[in-house]
Amino acid sequence: MRSVEEHRRVVAGLITARPPAALPLADALGLVLAEEVVAGVSLPGFDNSAMDGYAVLAADVAGASDATPVRLPVPEDIPAGRTDIPTLQPGTAHRIMTGAPLPHGATAVVPVEATDGAVDTVTIRAGAAEGQHVRRAGEDVTVGTTVLQAGQVLTPAALGLAAALGLRELTVTPRQRVLVVSTGTELVSPGTALAPGQIYESNGVMLAAAVRDAGAEVIASPTTGDDVDAFRETLRAHVGDADLILTTGGVSAGAYEVVKDALGGPSGGVEFVKVAMQPGMPQGAGSLEGTPTITLPGNPVSALVSFEVFVRPALRAAMGLTHPDRPRRTAMLTEDLTSPRGKRQFRRGVLDPVTDTVTSYGPPASHHLRWLASANCLLEIDEDTSEVASGSRVQVWDLR
Ligand code: AMP
Ligand code: MG
Repeated sequence: MRSVEEHRRVVAGLITARPPAALPLADALGLVLAEEVVAGVSLPGFDNSAMDGYAVLAADVAGASDATPVRLPVPEDIPAGRTDIPTLQPGTAHRIMTGAPLPHGATAVVPVEATDGAVDTVTIRAGAAEGQHVRRAGEDVTVGTTVLQAGQVLTPAALGLAAALGLRELTVTPRQRVLVVSTGTELVSPGTALAPGQIYESNGVMLAAAVRDAGAEVIASPTTGDDVDAFRETLRAHVGDADLILTTGGVSAGAYEVVKDALGGPSGGVEFVKVAMQPGMPQGAGSLEGTPTITLPGNPVSALVSFEVFVRPALRAAMGLTHPDRPRRTAMLTEDLTSPRGKRQFRRGVLDPVTDTVTSYGPPASHHLRWLASANCLLEIDEDTSEVASGSRVQVWDLR
């Protein structure tokens, strides 16, 4: 049997990065920048007011107080967005709003709260130091500065900064494009009535969501019956420019194993192996006419756990993410557990970070999706361990 680590290496070796491409900012969240961003403009781009108030010469309001207010005529009103920048004559005040350009000659802004707010002649009850409430051009970013580094993950704030600098696109390592194919003659789309022996298709929905959650893109998620020709035709029809074909079902030891029958054998391109893990023993990896192909088992828990262990980290690494794996930590086990010797077991668990404890959630079998749906971690028990005592510290993959 192949070890979990070895199969992780095989899968990771199959999936390669797409070449860098320019993407609109709205599509770039969570992707990795392929080139540094150098500011083409300064931020702020011009001196402007940090407050709603009055632009003044600081000297004109020196000594203003409740007892000795200063009264100044207000010749101009400067809302944010005014593009002709007026000049301030000594002995006057322009009403100004936050973000509006500071008039030439003004040296400070008196906040509206320190005035009577008048529009013709304003009464000012507080002095202002030179430069008070003025945001200077370039104090955030000076033109020519490198503000984002290649390799950085684009967060909402990074996208906001790029937009503030006037950029519409960023050059990134693009999302991996994944075709998700579900197999099984018993599968019926949700919304359709079930005949006896049929079940609702769920792996396709689940894996497509997992692909998107990993930051990659789903190009299609068709379902096909256990017929080799129909399966091959489905692949041909949907493969497009997929970076990865991900299938589920049809890889174990029974008859009608459509994925194995279609992709295995000397000419098939996919190697079918047993991996020493529970759940998720039957796995396949290889390529189909040059497109990397990973075949996951059909049992729903096996499918998603295998995706977590093998596919998610490989997809994320190929997108340039420096921490492709789920965060791992240890926690104290609240019960006794057993695990099959010789296999790495991944149990569903509930991690309580406050008490630093973890409890297994549901049975270890591979069809109990209900428990996985409400678990927040995977509990990893290594190959050499068959019993874990309550109170031991165990390895946990944090799925939150
Ligand atoms: P297989 O690996 O094809 O033998 O499938 C193993 C088990 O998983 C069977 O009980 C299948 O009915 C079930 N199964 C396979 N594919 C899916 C799917 N896409 N959605 C829900 N259950 C599935
Ligand atoms: Mg099947």
